Amino acid sequence: MKVVLRNPSRTEVVAGPARVGDVLARFAINPETVLVIHAGELVTKDVVMADDAELEVRPVISGGAGPARCHQCHGTAVIEVRRHNAAYCAEHFVDHVRTQVREAIDRHRMMSYDDRILVAVSGGKDSLALWDLLLDMGYRADGLYLGLGIGEYSDYSGRLVADYAAARDATLHTVDLAGEYGYDIPTATGLRNRSSCGVCGLSKRYVFNRVALEHGYDVMATGHNLDDEAAQLLGNVLRWQTPFMARQSVALPDSGGLARKVKPLYRLGEREMAAYCVIRGLEYVVEECPMVGGNTVLRYKDALNELERTSPGTKAQFLFGFLDRVQSTHFANADPAGEQLVACSGCGLPTTRPRQTDIAPVCAFCRTRERVVASAGRRDGVTATRP
Ligand code: SF4
Ligand SMILES: [Zn+2]
Ligand SMILES: [Zn+2]
Repeated sequence: MKVVLRNPSRTEVVAGPARVGDVLARFAINPETVLVIHAGELVTKDVVMADDAELEVRPVISGGAGPARCHQCHGTAVIEVRRHNAAYCAEHFVDHVRTQVREAIDRHRMMSYDDRILVAVSGGKDSLALWDLLLDMGYRADGLYLGLGIGEYSDYSGRLVADYAAARDATLHTVDLAGEYGYDIPTATGLRNRSSCGVCGLSKRYVFNRVALEHGYDVMATGHNLDDEAAQLLGNVLRWQTPFMARQSVALPDSGGLARKVKPLYRLGEREMAAYCVIRGLEYVVEECPMVGGNTVLRYKDALNELERTSPGTKAQFLFGFLDRVQSTHFANADPAGEQLVACSGCGLPTTRPRQTDIAPVCAFCRTRERVVASAGRRDGVTATRP
């Protein structure tokens, strides 16, 4: 049978018939970290595949395995979620995902049906799934896509997001970083004290805030999932970065004119989000961003997945325990949103007040953009000008 492995993509031939679990073992693949897809449907590790079958093994970095009958209807399961000690058929899995999103929204009072919501959509599985879920649940959710200028990767993700918006007849705002701000993410490589991922994250946050403010959105929603949040927390705990821990919330209240920020997928793992997309037929960018190399969060995800493999539920206990028992009590008065905010002298958006009162406040985005544009100008042998 043909086995298509992704990230990096390669095709292997394996003699059949064979159990999916045995095929994975042959490639030393931890079943917890992948989805296996046959003829457009998910299959579990006990299914036996014929010699002429074609399998796709899609990495998702997460946990799973267990009984192969749906927890609700006892039909054939398409996915197991070990954390819940449950397996689901396609229909009940979608119900499970919606239930978790509903729980997140209600528990943290993230949004109401009157709110106008802006979803940051990158073309990846999480953000597209989030937009799809919110629209299906009846929320007034529009999308925002930021063109990062990362070659074919950005072109493809931009097309996927635009196609999804058109198919759903949904409103999509598109901002091109180079066109609007005079630089793209590849230009930001080689900058002192800031990785390209750092510049990328800062740019995303800034443009997201800006579009939300200019268009009067009440809520900004991002596709951060359980794996993202648990990995972030682990990174912060390992270095005892308490100011970051104070700010690590799944629902930040509005402040300084900026809309509320929420993460409705924090109760769902990466693997669940990838499965949701496959089941719902949502096309998303499977390939990693080519600039991901410097992203340390991936190492924390790997470490947590190792723990999850032997102790399912560890990730959720780690994150939910923090949110319920530490964040809401120990950091309740930290009020990071309550820092004194003033208008940036460059762009007018809220930023923190400088310590020295005689210095004009300039936000981190304006400062960084100036450095990126200047260093690109030096590389090109031209004098940089602000667009
Ligand atoms: S991997 Fe880094 S550069 Fe690529 S999209 Fe993510 S943050 Fe941006
Ligand atoms: Zn079912
Ligand atoms: Zn600014």
